Amino acid sequence: MAQLGFIGLGIMGRPMIGHLLAAGNKVNVYDVNTEAVKEVVAKGAVAKASSKDVASVSDVIIVMVPDTPDVEEVLFGKDGVAKGVKSGSIVVDMSSISPIATKEFAGKLEAMGVEMLDAPVSGGQVGAEKAILSIMVGGKPEIFERIKPYFALMGKNIVLIGDHGAGQTCKVANQIAVAVNIIGTAEALAFASKAGADPAKVREALMGGLASSRIMELHGERMIKRTFQPGFRIRLHQKDLNLALQSARSLHMSIPATALAQEMFNAVAARDGLDLDHSAMVLAIEELANHPVA
Ligand code: NAD
Repeated sequence: MAQLGFIGLGIMGRPMIGHLLAAGNKVNVYDVNTEAVKEVVAKGAVAKASSKDVASVSDVIIVMVPDTPDVEEVLFGKDGVAKGVKSGSIVVDMSSISPIATKEFAGKLEAMGVEMLDAPVSGGQVGAEKAILSIMVGGKPEIFERIKPYFALMGKNIVLIGDHGAGQTCKVANQIAVAVNIIGTAEALAFASKAGADPAKVREALMGGLASSRIMELHGERMIKRTFQPGFRIRLHQKDLNLALQSARSLHMSIPATALAQEMFNAVAARDGLDLDHSAMVLAIEELANHPVA
């Protein structure tokens, strides 16, 4: 059986490792947060002292850290994966990061005889816990086929989009659609509430029609019940929208709804909301409406 490595044991990484362990895999782990390491070791994972140490004993190394500089540090930093990785291993980066940097990382690893897939996910904490993540993959088809059985333990909708970076491009598109959907959901619920309707009943009714969505289902409920602990932090969604806005600029295209969503997140950030769940965008809409949804 292949030895797996997993680096980044956050909100997403911990439940994903749980599924790999439950299927009988050996999983070597590292995170700078020792509390997170203890939690997965209690479920059967093996703690290693660095990313380098994970790489030196693993055939497949999964990375799930916040941002592009974090992936760079994990892969190429002091005591990073590149310092210990065996030729023939496969690095699978499931973090959401820059498509351009991804291509560069894949090229550097390839020169060392190491294959890479970018495989960011959508579906959030609930999707990770229920192993129903959507996984969007970039890389070589034959490497995708080899890793697919592991993806199937963590997700349901698993699609090879194209070559290196294509998975990350798909994820940026996903984050545009999600952010704009959050504004729509927040505005609809704030409007209904200020007009005197019960937002919980409105959400229930909308879930049966054209306005239904996973965002209306999960985040609409969060907005009504005021459960803004993450989840998916506004800080991370802002990172993804930065990638979207920068890429749109270099493509000479305008994505005005995304820019508005980023501004709404800025407004929540101004009230110390960077580490709230992204459904807390409703706080900015409520401010403008001078009315709370619930
Ligand atoms: P998180 O902040 O909860 O976890 C990230 C983990 O990485 C932390 O435990 C942190 O200590 C660790 N880490 C950071 N730098 C490290 C390093 N150099 N070496 C070792 N460990 C390091 O983040 P998350 O919510 O689990 O998200 C992870 C990735 O998945 C992000 O790119 C995010 O955009 C993406 N994502 C998150 C969600 C979600 O709902 N939370 C959904 C889809 C995609």
